[in-house]
Amino acid sequence: MTTSIRPPVFSELALSRAEVDRLAELRGDFALMDSLLHDSTTRILAVLLAEAPVATHDANAALIFTPLSEFEEQTEFAFLGKDTDGIAYFAGFVGQSFASTSHVGQWKNLRAVGVELSARDAGLLVSAVALANWHSTHQRCPRCGVGTVIAEAGWTRKCPDDGSNHFPRTDPAIIVMVTDHQDRALLARQTRWQPGWLSVLAGFVEAGESAEAAVVREVGEESGVVVDPLTVEYLASQPWPFPNSLMMGYRARASAEYRSDEEIPLTVDGVEIAHAQWMSRAELLHACQSGEIHLPPKVSIAHRLIVDWLGEPLPLETSFR
Ligand SMILES: [Zn+2]
Repeated sequence: MTTSIRPPVFSELALSRAEVDRLAELRGDFALMDSLLHDSTTRILAVLLAEAPVATHDANAALIFTPLSEFEEQTEFAFLGKDTDGIAYFAGFVGQSFASTSHVGQWKNLRAVGVELSARDAGLLVSAVALANWHSTHQRCPRCGVGTVIAEAGWTRKCPDDGSNHFPRTDPAIIVMVTDHQDRALLARQTRWQPGWLSVLAGFVEAGESAEAAVVREVGEESGVVVDPLTVEYLASQPWPFPNSLMMGYRARASAEYRSDEEIPLTVDGVEIAHAQWMSRAELLHACQSGEIHLPPKVSIAHRLIVDWLGEPLPLETSFR
């Protein structure tokens, strides 16, 4: 009997490294949350959608926290949890005016610094960004339209009129490395990308659909390739709060019905996908080195899926964005 071992690259997904204990069971204790927020050891991260104050030094970045006294009185906060050293962390949701007048550090986007942050800081910022995006777009009750109020230490919005509770939304999406009978990778360019930018295929899971079925459907829609459903294999997931996705990473092989002595034809829709191609490992490395193609940045699960297939790290300068 053999044991399957997950490739080591998937332990390094930049935005899946959260370390702080969320302590969700404490969120309903208003008195405790209030006293923790006012505790002098507590650290509060100011967040404006996907951005927060960050200090960078060489290839390392660290969050910079803001004292409670500097936040405006009407600021809404969310409890992010406690570290093993007992320190509590909160996010404070701020507006553009706060960000432009604060002097605590440079405001940086999670996408840009996710790889450089420590596991603790990356996890804190991912949760803070996911919540900030949700709060900013869910200010009204979907049932009756009345303005909602923050509750459960920032993890719920409540309608004061009908009492309904509303929770942060996460949209499941699949992302998949598809290979052909020669173990070549299927890579594609989205219509909104620059020429030469390539990635693996991805798409949202539809209502009432399994993630595995979404893999088969998306690959068919975006490339015309029929995937063998029995080869669809789940690898790992990564939150992608831009604004609210959870990317579930898969690999899959093209159907064995295709003739092995012919190239599997690719048909792109021209709406979402502009171009698709099969690439061998040697072709991909050569195209990266010559600057002919650019691949997704290290912070993305797409990058990890490509590295996992390639079997070696990608040259750094090949990233787009
Ligand atoms: Zn309502």
